[in-house]
Amino acid sequence: MDNISKSKIREIQGLLNKLGYYNYSIDGFLGNYTKNSIKNFQKNNNLKITGELDEITLNVLNDFLMGYIVYTIKDGDTLYKIAEEYNTSVWRIITANQGINPFELSIGKAIIVPLDNQIVLTNIPYTYEILENNIEALSKRYPFMKYDSIGTSVDGRNIYRIRIGEGDNHVIYNGAHHANEWITTPVLMKWLEVFLEVYSRKGSIRGYDTEEIWDYATIDIVPMVNPDGVELVIDGIENINTNKEELIKWNFDNDDFRDWKSNINGVDLNRNYDAGWEEYKKLELELGVTGPGPYLYGGSEPESEPESATMANLTRDIDTRLVLAYHSQGQVIFWNFRDLQPEISLYIGETFANASGYELAAEELSQSLAGYKDWYIQEFRKPGYTIEVGKGENPLPIEQFDMIYENNEELLLLASII
Ligand SMILES: [Zn+2]
Repeated sequence: MDNISKSKIREIQGLLNKLGYYNYSIDGFLGNYTKNSIKNFQKNNNLKITGELDEITLNVLNDFLMGYIVYTIKDGDTLYKIAEEYNTSVWRIITANQGINPFELSIGKAIIVPLDNQIVLTNIPYTYEILENNIEALSKRYPFMKYDSIGTSVDGRNIYRIRIGEGDNHVIYNGAHHANEWITTPVLMKWLEVFLEVYSRKGSIRGYDTEEIWDYATIDIVPMVNPDGVELVIDGIENINTNKEELIKWNFDNDDFRDWKSNINGVDLNRNYDAGWEEYKKLELELGVTGPGPYLYGGSEPESEPESATMANLTRDIDTRLVLAYHSQGQVIFWNFRDLQPEISLYIGETFANASGYELAAEELSQSLAGYKDWYIQEFRKPGYTIEVGKGENPLPIEQFDMIYENNEELLLLASII
């Protein structure tokens, strides 16, 4: 079939890989290896074996990508029977349909049947579209997860906030301020999926009781602060509608945006907060930055950009205990700003360093100006951290995902209760 985008094929390859059908390069092309794995998938799902992405096959693949189907209860159904039919488990169905009475199923009623696979793909570039699908799917599978859009990007994409927990200890975690650091988004999303699944079974992760965390903390996750920029880095200018021509110019006449960190006004969102911003503007000139570009341009005034303003507004609206801003790379945690941080910041930072194996460090002054965590520390005098995950050149290869996740799983649990 034609008209299937490269990123869609990449997503399907990523899924087939997670489901155990495909063990080759995730390249977005429908080559022979991919077609063979589609054949095996079709065989195991009682579909016509063509090796092609025909409509029916695409629909079933989509069910797995979304991780659930909507099922209408028939006469004689039991949850056990439905679970058997879709290779899933009864507890998943009960979790997704709060209040369902297994002994009194009403015929004709539509229910959510979650499939048994995990849905956050951690083996492909994590696009805005994947994020949207994953958020919707997780909220269907785990209806106690809340989400909303707290703002809109320059190009009209949603800036999502996900909320878990019901406690008084409010914390905010965010990722992908910087476009080519999009790997931070699946780190937060994978952690969220693991947490929701374990919480639905009343379990613990690394000795942390998820029910206790739920009751003690409220965790707001903004997984992708800069969705337009992420789109630009992963799939190029094709799906961007604003500043199309300027973007290429600002990118030094290059249509390869892998080095791009800014939003699509060419403003570096992590230089757009009101913490030493004027000072930064002077430094900007020394750095050779005179206007919009892939990185380091701080904008015309603090919070000039909808993305940074959205993040600042959320932070002002909530009485937070602590914030984490995820970036890549360096395996380092930055914890201070001009000695304005409270005394406990160092202790918490050391605890995070121990949990992650990352180094705790103070930034050089030039690196620590007008950033989100700088502004948070200055404004609220509370502990704020920039966590730089992974090692190498941005965008980090997705192959680093498992290591990064391993480094950060405990830190993300800890940060909600410390
Ligand atoms: Zn960054």
